[in-house]
Amino acid sequence: MGVPDDAPLVRSLAGEHFDYRFAAGDTILPLEARINDRAYEIIRDALATDFSRRIAFDKFVDADHIQRLTGRRTGGGFVVGGKIFLTRALDPHEIAHVIAIEELGRPSDFFDEGLAVNFGGVRVTANQVEIFPSALRNFEIDAEVRSVFAGGRFPGSVREILTSRAFQALSFEVSYPVAGSFVKFLLHTRGLPALRTFFASSAQFDASADIEADLLGAFGAPIQSLESEWRSSLGLPEAAP
Ligand SMILES: [Zn+2]
Repeated sequence: MGVPDDAPLVRSLAGEHFDYRFAAGDTILPLEARINDRAYEIIRDALATDFSRRIAFDKFVDADHIQRLTGRRTGGGFVVGGKIFLTRALDPHEIAHVIAIEELGRPSDFFDEGLAVNFGGVRVTANQVEIFPSALRNFEIDAEVRSVFAGGRFPGSVREILTSRAFQALSFEVSYPVAGSFVKFLLHTRGLPALRTFFASSAQFDASADIEADLLGAFGAPIQSLESEWRSSLGLPEAAP
């Protein structure tokens, strides 16, 4: 409010784990800084890493502001070079990207986003911060993916959207819940060490055949079996052959 689109990020604030910058007239509330610090620790521990560096975090007021200063338009945010650019003060999803990319590696967008979605929801009760899997509007990920299927918005298969290019061709309202739920399933049924093996063997622009080979290597089952197991665990219909 009242912050011009070209307002430079002249204010700064040092949190426990973050170095924030924001415009005059904007702010990071103490509660927001505490939630981000706690989210950092929860994600670091959940991924079994010793990530410890401070994260630079530029906060913008809206899509116009972030576009004017970075050249990229978004109502959310993004990570470049381990730094967070965001149009809001809170976002464990982007914190998860920073830690996962540096500590686990950078697989295709399906898995990079799918893992971040597993840390996308935040709930604050009393003095407790809770992080939970959520892609959209802070709902539980499995409810989100059931609603995507119930609405007939994902007629395809996971196997068809494993590459970064295929993933990006879908609406994020479909791709993020599907990827988040599938990665949640892998984490819960195969465990973090297997997921870390997969991430370590992967790269952002891997071809489909390479991704499938790495999945087989890390999880001990072909993608068709993993997808079928994931679908039946959620009561979703089988993928069309
Ligand atoms: Zn993301």
